[in-house]
Amino acid sequence: AGMSELRTVAVLGATGSIGTSALDVIARHPQRLRAGVLAAGCNVEALVALCRLHRPDHAVIADESRFEALRDGLREAGLPTQPHAGARALEELAAGDACDTVVAAIVGAAGLDSTLAAARAGKRLLLANKESLVLAGELLTAVARAAGATLIPIDSEHNAIFQCLRDGRVDAGVRRVVLTASGGPFRGRKRADLAGVTPAQAVAHPKWSMGPKISVDSATLMNKGLEVIEAHHLFGLPDARIDVLVHPQSLVHSLVEFDDGSTLAQLGLPDMRTALAVGLGWPQRIASGVAGLDLLAHGRLDFEPPDPDTFPCLRLARQALLAGGTAPATLNAANEVAVSAFLQGRIGFLDIPALVADTLSALPAAAATSLDELRAADAAARRFAGSTLPFHGSASA
Ligand code: NAD
Ligand code: MG
Repeated sequence: AGMSELRTVAVLGATGSIGTSALDVIARHPQRLRAGVLAAGCNVEALVALCRLHRPDHAVIADESRFEALRDGLREAGLPTQPHAGARALEELAAGDACDTVVAAIVGAAGLDSTLAAARAGKRLLLANKESLVLAGELLTAVARAAGATLIPIDSEHNAIFQCLRDGRVDAGVRRVVLTASGGPFRGRKRADLAGVTPAQAVAHPKWSMGPKISVDSATLMNKGLEVIEAHHLFGLPDARIDVLVHPQSLVHSLVEFDDGSTLAQLGLPDMRTALAVGLGWPQRIASGVAGLDLLAHGRLDFEPPDPDTFPCLRLARQALLAGGTAPATLNAANEVAVSAFLQGRIGFLDIPALVADTLSALPAAAATSLDELRAADAAARRFAGSTLPFHGSASA
């Protein structure tokens, strides 16, 4: 495996924020990286536009009703790219010979099956889809281990920790990890200030440009809660050894503390292309298009504790992790329903933690060992959360 090895990459969620960042890095390295598969949810026009630029062998649209539109769009563009549609095609391409590397960048539990398929096939798996780890972390990491898949976290915090650890693994001598959090757009506000905030305010993240769902999660701090669960599965650490520190500049991406008193951190500008370049080039370092960090220009690094009263989602996520079994799946599904309802203007911002808390208490944690049990918990939580939505709907009142 030398410099000349050409990696063929499947970008699942190609039209999203992580997907386009991944394609930006891939395009910088035509000698070593090429896009073999591009997949998206339902936006055919955006997918065909990416196919013109990156000329993949295969393009997949998850929404089956859009197959003809994709086929015609690729034909009109004069591209040899083969069109596919549906979740099954997505899984088959993620697992098959069309790629050796998979960027799992679909948002939400919708990304679970293709992520699992790539892990089972032993691919190099660049995992941005944190919801799949929250929903089925034990299964996913076990499948990846058994198949010899290389799992590289593409979440800035976990990628930072991965970089600080030898071979990306926690071994004896690691005392704890510290996830940094920007605090989101409402850092410093109190509960009463948040009742009337709008979706546009919630997605206006001060430091990162991301898709709408994770932007809302950052505003509620549920994102950091999901990341505590993610860190637990990726690094095999208990909740008590995963700390969270608010760091508004978003330059220190996370830290690892060792038994000898050393703390290692990874720093850089807040741009996901760095984490993606780590995963695409690993174990080598390759250019990402991100400038180096000029600490003099930034001047200072600040740290503060999270505010658990204003942002209860972080505590809810830790409770779900401690409860175990189906609880994280329930938390994740209720949160997806709540965030989507908030983005549609159906519920208010404070209804998000309320809906998640109600769902967790209505559907107590049960042991779960199979994917079917986890899927059933996910479905039950979506049903319950959906049925209580009208009782939370205070947004336009
Ligand atoms: P996004 O909304 O910008 O993009 C989502 C992508 O998923 C789109 O390409 C969309 O077409 C595709 N998609 C949606 N539903 C689908 C379905 N049912 N089947 C197939 N494809 C589907 O989201 P994003 O910000 O790029 O985030 C993607 C994932 O990466 C999320 O899990 C998020 O938590 C994680 N992540 C993102 C960032 C970031 O900086 N954006 C950072 C860390 C982690
Ligand atoms: Mg993150």
